[in-house]
Amino acid sequence: MLITHDTRCALDAVVDLVNTAPEDDGTPDGLPDVAALGDFVEKHEISDVGVLSEFDLSAVRKVRGRFAAIFAEPDARITAGLINDLVAAAGTTPRLTDHDGYDWHVHYFAPGASVADHLAADCGMALAFFVVAGEQERLRRCEAPDCRHAFVDLSRNRSRRYCDSRTCGNRLHVAAYRARRKEAAG
Ligand SMILES: [Zn+2]
Ligand SMILES: [Zn+2]
Repeated sequence: MLITHDTRCALDAVVDLVNTAPEDDGTPDGLPDVAALGDFVEKHEISDVGVLSEFDLSAVRKVRGRFAAIFAEPDARITAGLINDLVAAAGTTPRLTDHDGYDWHVHYFAPGASVADHLAADCGMALAFFVVAGEQERLRRCEAPDCRHAFVDLSRNRSRRYCDSRTCGNRLHVAAYRARRKEAAG
């Protein structure tokens, strides 16, 4: 699979976005307010989205839910439908660009798109290529029992089981968690 710099950035952004979702275990929303959305936009260098508002925040949270569903869906046909709907709603206008010294690549977001539409278009297409390549299984959830973060497995043999978090994938950590669970249950 050819992964251009923008695809890589879009993948980082979508993984980060999905992982800001509040969780059942009491983990609070990682995008609690417009300022947090501003930090996210800055971190991922999402260009040209104008002044952010409460409307943007709620729109981005909706898009986040749709991306989470895509990461959770094992069936390619259903995933394709989810991505089609997401990308269509964002009003994409694909155009070639070689900005900032990068090789030719395609931007999907429409000029002046809101941050939610920008994410839906570019991240949606980044995920679409995994379906095209028959490699949708690379869109994963961390197997550490107390994590379940979304990540994209770009390893050659698709063998990655854990996210980038420092503790995940540390077998001792997982074993300790299971022991604590058992103790709490028993
Ligand atoms: Zn670009
Ligand atoms: Zn993890």
